[in-house]
Amino acid sequence: MKLFDAHCHLQDPRVLNKAPELIENALEAGVVRFAVNGIYEEDWHLVKEMGETYPSVIPCFGLHPWYVAERSPNWFETLKEYFDATPSAAVGEIGVHKGSQPQGIQADISEQIKVLGQQLELAKELNKPATVHCVAAFDELVELMRSMGPFPAGVILHSYMGSAELVPELSELGSYFSFSGHNMSQNANAFKRVLNAVPSDRILLETDSPDALPKSLLPNETFNQPANLHYVLDYVASLLEVTKEELAELTYHNAVRLFSYKGSKVRPKKYRK
Ligand SMILES: [Zn+2]
Repeated sequence: MKLFDAHCHLQDPRVLNKAPELIENALEAGVVRFAVNGIYEEDWHLVKEMGETYPSVIPCFGLHPWYVAERSPNWFETLKEYFDATPSAAVGEIGVHKGSQPQGIQADISEQIKVLGQQLELAKELNKPATVHCVAAFDELVELMRSMGPFPAGVILHSYMGSAELVPELSELGSYFSFSGHNMSQNANAFKRVLNAVPSDRILLETDSPDALPKSLLPNETFNQPANLHYVLDYVASLLEVTKEELAELTYHNAVRLFSYKGSKVRPKKYRK
């Protein structure tokens, strides 16, 4: 059985020095690919290095909504340089977040949407999939995606917490729906309704490590790791009433197809600024 962790943060300071060990654990557990998402300018170089060191890592660069307020004046130019230097990279983690944020830094919602729009536009232009974090802001996200979409290279709605009713329109716009330990603490019936609404070619699994630890199953652990993707697999397979093997195969192939999307090639050098 092969699994693909569609969203994690192995560059996070809490686990960075353990990353080689965590990657080894994952490979032993059959979790063979990981999309490692940068969240701000300061960690993009770590993600880039990880992608160069480990063939199993898909590097992703993006500015997360929690860090929008502290971005530098050159952040977007720097981001574009990372994609020029790493053509295989995807866009993420980007998004929009309403309500309280762990750091207490609250970027204005219109600023967040502006920054998200810029990065979605770049993803479209470069034909890359983009991973989106959305908390309590689905109206804003859907409106923005409607105005810009569709997204043929895919938009990954990570730890999707939106409604089942939104799934058809979001799918039509190019969304994929990724589920993690965060979803394991949702109401099971509500989560099951969402899962049943997601088209089978658009479902993904992720750990969001080092976050989203399934605490009820692993009370003694302090942080999550990609090898724990099996717990998400087991839970989602049980709600969908399919075998683990079927769900592993389906989600693995969905992720491979998505992250190797080649709608068009990287722009020839002469057209670059
Ligand atoms: Zn994340």
